[in-house]
Amino acid sequence: MQLLEMKWTEVAKLSRDMPVVIPIAALEQHGPHMPVFTDSLLLGEVVRRVSEPLQGRVLLAPLLWLGNSHHHLDFPGTVSASPRVYLDVLIDLAESFLFHGFRRLVLLNGHGGNIVPAQQALFELRQRYRSRSDVLLLSATYWTAGGNPNEADSSFRQTQMGHACEWETSMMLRIQPQLVGDYAATEDVEWGRAFAPANRAWVTPDRSPLGHIGYPQEASADKGETLFRVFAAGVVALLERVIAWDGKDWDG
Ligand SMILES: [Zn+2]
Repeated sequence: MQLLEMKWTEVAKLSRDMPVVIPIAALEQHGPHMPVFTDSLLLGEVVRRVSEPLQGRVLLAPLLWLGNSHHHLDFPGTVSASPRVYLDVLIDLAESFLFHGFRRLVLLNGHGGNIVPAQQALFELRQRYRSRSDVLLLSATYWTAGGNPNEADSSFRQTQMGHACEWETSMMLRIQPQLVGDYAATEDVEWGRAFAPANRAWVTPDRSPLGHIGYPQEASADKGETLFRVFAAGVVALLERVIAWDGKDWDG
């Protein structure tokens, strides 16, 4: 069910055990060859694909395109909420549904910079509702929600998500090829975990002069279809577990 198409009187009649899925993405630079709306377009396609098998069993909120992208602000076209503002936006988004009695909320994420804020926002909200053992607050990122593209197709060179990379460029070639620039001319940019096992605080120019990370020149529309299929299946499987959750046993 798409929240944006419903009347409040229809929402009022829904089961409060129905999971609410809130897609969160971004509007930020994606290298010299990909549009700034990439994360929102890709997550929108994942949501479109999961909405059919879950028809009538989850409530889908509209996608939030404003994300935590301050680390990309050196590149024009990036639009970002600062981390503390973004935390409050996510908390208010989720709490609106709690206020109306919904108990199972999933922040479904499509942008790396949102991972930590999504976890932190729900962590803070859980403290606010600490006596409510019936409340389930989850965040998940679509490319780590369960599906593994390397198991589906051994021709992928990447084994992890980058940025405007083989994976993202392939998916964009699948849905909006006219928005993809000269990806064949891009150069490899490694992930650069040079400070492991510590976590370095970084801005994108620390890691990539043109903004991408990974191997975009390996992209193809066929790979993009595989990625969408695998990632959507992972998200569906996750949401099926949220639907089936009996309030006690998640792993059983
Ligand atoms: Zn992206």
